[in-house]
Amino acid sequence: MTALSVSCEFFPPRSEKGMSNLISVRQKLQVLQPEYYSVTFGAGGSTQEKTFETVIQIQQESEIEAAPHLSCIGSTRAGVLQLLQDYQKYGVRRIVALRGDQPSGWAGHIGELSHANELVEFIRAETGSHFHIEVAAYPEFHPESRNAKEDIGYFKQKVAAGANSAITQYFYNADAYFRLLDNCAAQGIDIPIIPGIMPISNYEQLIRFSNTCGAEVPRWLQWRLRDFENDAAGLQAFGIDVITDLCGRLLAGGAAGLHFYTLNQAELTLTITKRLGLY
Ligand code: FAD
Repeated sequence: MTALSVSCEFFPPRSEKGMSNLISVRQKLQVLQPEYYSVTFGAGGSTQEKTFETVIQIQQESEIEAAPHLSCIGSTRAGVLQLLQDYQKYGVRRIVALRGDQPSGWAGHIGELSHANELVEFIRAETGSHFHIEVAAYPEFHPESRNAKEDIGYFKQKVAAGANSAITQYFYNADAYFRLLDNCAAQGIDIPIIPGIMPISNYEQLIRFSNTCGAEVPRWLQWRLRDFENDAAGLQAFGIDVITDLCGRLLAGGAAGLHFYTLNQAELTLTITKRLGLY
């Protein structure tokens, strides 16, 4: 096991084929000895049962701990409690607690817990210290925040409600992460804040994701990536160089670990971590 906290994030596959692919992906990633595998959760009900199935499968079949994401938007307290109790029954000890986003076209209610700090408070009130709670942090600020002060203030509330550590939204500008750490230190926030790392494999997809979640793809990087319009292998190789360099700078600057958004693929994460000497 490396001293750093390396973790890997998956989305819950919808098909049998996707499920068996994920088994092989996590078997490949095991060489990294990740601290945990997390599984995303579709706010508004889209993939929630699949998240549960995937988490329990990891929990039962793998040496690596499973950590479900749990978002509160559109949920009731009773529904969240039921899920927490089910996870407890299967020995799950870590939760990534989020507000979530309304799926487009969704006409449901906002729910009984409207922000992640209320969800963290609820988890603590109902289950005490059973779960290690991760929350989200935003080096380039959450797209709905009006300013940096408000953003960090709400982040502080999540920590005060009982979060143990945080994972960041992905970013390609190391300074944004270091400034977040400085800002947190100045506010007396002392939980580990692990950078979320999005390997680059597809230009259009990256731009689409980034536009919705408020992550900036720097102009120099966009322009360089456009050079690989008809060269998927070249884009991947360049992306590996960029992300390895970013991770190296983050670790050298004191990041306590790395959380990889794997998109259910092992190769990029493995190549980057190998180059970093993490296994
Ligand atoms: P919050 O912390 O509630 O913040 C949301 C916005 O509201 C921010 O602008 C914040 O400043 C503001 N705010 C916070 N608290 C208050 C308050 N008390 N009063 C008023 N305003 C407030 N989404 C999914 O649907 N499923 C997933 O599995 C998932 N996994 C993720 C994993 C990571 C590591 C990250 C970084 C994000 C993930 N997301 C996921 C996306 C996330 O749900 C969205 O970014 C969402 O818009 C905000 O979630 P949050 O938990 O950060 O919300």
